Amino acid sequence: MSDTGTALEARIRSAVDGTHDDVVETRRRLHRHPELSKVEHHTAELVAQRSADLGFEVRAGVGGTGVIADLDSGRPGPMLMLRADMDALPILEQGEGRVVTSENDGAMHACGHDGHVAMTLGAATALASLRDDWSGRLRLCFQPAEEVASGAMPMIADGAADGVDRVLGIHLWAPLETGRVAVKAGVIFGSADSFTLTIQGRGGHGGMPHTAIDPVVVTAQVILAIQSIISRETSPFSPAVITIGRVTAGTAFNVIADSAELLGTTRAIEIAERERLLTRIAEIATAVASGYGAQALFTRGTGCPPVVSDAATADLVQRAAAATVGDDHVDIAVPITVGDDVACFLQRAPGCYFLVGAGHPERGPVPPHHSAYFDIDEAALPVGVETLVRATLEVLG
Ligand SMILES: [Zn+2]
Ligand SMILES: [Zn+2]
Repeated sequence: MSDTGTALEARIRSAVDGTHDDVVETRRRLHRHPELSKVEHHTAELVAQRSADLGFEVRAGVGGTGVIADLDSGRPGPMLMLRADMDALPILEQGEGRVVTSENDGAMHACGHDGHVAMTLGAATALASLRDDWSGRLRLCFQPAEEVASGAMPMIADGAADGVDRVLGIHLWAPLETGRVAVKAGVIFGSADSFTLTIQGRGGHGGMPHTAIDPVVVTAQVILAIQSIISRETSPFSPAVITIGRVTAGTAFNVIADSAELLGTTRAIEIAERERLLTRIAEIATAVASGYGAQALFTRGTGCPPVVSDAATADLVQRAAAATVGDDHVDIAVPITVGDDVACFLQRAPGCYFLVGAGHPERGPVPPHHSAYFDIDEAALPVGVETLVRATLEVLG
């Protein structure tokens, strides 16, 4: 390494190390006060204030509670966006032995977004102090409502992606051990869509079903029939999921309901499959229902496309991760059928979404994301900060 290289390395080290305590403290503060999708008001205030203190030009209220913060190096170059999601989930936190616990009953950072915000602010702090070492512009994008897949699009409509040349985003990942980073060119997360099916029958007496059209029986048939879209119509080499997560119908044991409502979600790795799944669910539900004299009404809900990283950026993140945790601690990520609307930003500019291991190695199997027992290993936070800083310097260096 050249003398200049060594000096830069020392500056990176000291800038990153200097953020450590603050990143942990920020993550704990956010964890204590989780805010649900679209009402991330205090979180937004915190990130706006911190970014302004660092010299970023801040725009709040972007597409709802979103915050954009820009820092110009004063030298020409591309604009890189670091995107962090801010929202928590409607879950009552459970479990022992946490370093910090939610104080908002019924809300919980059960996906690690508290860490995403803290790490991105940490990286911003380090990069502001390393301002002489990069060119172009750095944009922080604090996004609301990721958990309901409806935060990115309103921000984009409000100009958040305008002029952005490259996007980097991070997700803490508890199934991956702390100290490991997983990167992959191409699809890393699948698409995620929601839908509602209303099965309209005709209510009646539970003892005289022949005088009614029972939407509960039709619902049972519909649920089974749509699973055959996966087992019989989808290539085993193209992972896809259909889940009905909620079924509601009826009021009493001896009353045939008028209608039933099903809420479900689909996941796909390929973009064409995403559309096909939704179309086929509507077709099959309609056909099955009409076979029983009932009607099915399909309504598409919010959703987002698969999360796709471009090869050049994935390569660069891979190098940044290797410089942080060592070559042998960087994995090629296996695609996962969870969704993330960072996908919408990645459709507008090339970039990379990568995973930072946050599983406590000594605690064995960790509860999954979105579980009431979910917890992250805070030792993951500096890994995320350093990888973000190094990747940023590669893009803007
Ligand atoms: Zn989540
Ligand atoms: Zn998440």
